[in-house]
Amino acid sequence: MTTLLELKNVSKQYGSDTLALSNVSFSVNEGEFVSVIGPSGAGKSTLLRCINRMIDATNGEIMFDDVNVMKLHKKELRSLRTKLGMIFQHYNLVNRLSVIENVLHGRLGYKSTITGMLGIYKEEEKKQAMKILEILGLKEQAYKRCDQLSGGQKQRVGIARALIQSPKMLLCDEPIASLDPNASKVIMDHLKNISSSMGITVLVNLHQVDVALKYSDRVIGVSQGRIVYNGSPKDITKEEIRTIYGSEASDLNINLGGKNAG
Ligand code: ADP
Repeated sequence: MTTLLELKNVSKQYGSDTLALSNVSFSVNEGEFVSVIGPSGAGKSTLLRCINRMIDATNGEIMFDDVNVMKLHKKELRSLRTKLGMIFQHYNLVNRLSVIENVLHGRLGYKSTITGMLGIYKEEEKKQAMKILEILGLKEQAYKRCDQLSGGQKQRVGIARALIQSPKMLLCDEPIASLDPNASKVIMDHLKNISSSMGITVLVNLHQVDVALKYSDRVIGVSQGRIVYNGSPKDITKEEIRTIYGSEASDLNINLGGKNAG
C-alpha cells in the first residue's frame, strides 16, 4: 500500500487561546475512503483546511504525494490544489452561471490567469465536463443556471468541478450537512463510487456517525483537536463513539450492529 497523505504532529492555534488541532498524526493510503468524525468544533474543518493550505498549520509536517505541503510557495501551491479536489458543505458554486461553466472552473488551476479570466476552454475540456456530468446524473442539467438546482444537484456539480481537476484526492468538508437523507445517500454513493471505481482517495468530514461507519474503510475520531480513534468502522465500540462525541453523544442514534450492539 502506498501512503498518499501523512500528517505528523500537526497543531493549529487560532489567536492566543484556541488550540483547534493538537499533535494530530495519521496517514491515508492511495485509494482509501477515510471519514473524520467528531462533534461541532472538534477541529475537522480546520484539519482539511490545513491539508490544502487554505490555512497554515502552526506546527508539524504534512506530506502529500511526496511533497512537503507546509513548505510550498505560490506556484507549487497551485499545483498542490489541482491534485486535491475540495468539496464544501455550501457547494461554493457561482449561482448565476450554468452547471457546465461551474464544472469548467475546476480547470482554472491549469490555465494562465488571462485564459482563465476569458473563460477559454478547449473542446476536450468541455467534452470531459459533459462526461463527468453524465456519470453524476446531471447531463440534462448542463446548461441550467445553478440557482435552479436542488441542494443535492448543486453538491453533484461541486463534485464534478473537483473531478475535472483530475485530483489524486478529494477533501470533503461536511458534504451532506445541508442535505436531506435521500440526497445525502446519492452524494455518499457517488463519493464511494469515485473512490472504488476511479481509484481517487477520499477524506471526508462527517458529523453523522452512522453514515461514516457505513461508507468508510477507516474512521478517524476527533475530539477537542485530538485524534481519539483511528481504525476500522467495524471495530469501533459505543464507548469509543461516546468518547469522540462527549456531551453530544446522547443526541446520536448509534446503531453499530453485530457484536457491539446493545
Ligand atoms: P469542526 O469542523 O469540527 O466543527 P472547526 O475546525 O471548525 O471544527 O473548529 C475547531 C475550533 O477552532 C473551534 O473551537 C472553532 O471555534 C475554532 N475556529 C475555527 N475557525 C476559526 C477561526 N478562523 N478563528 C478562530 N477560531 C476558529
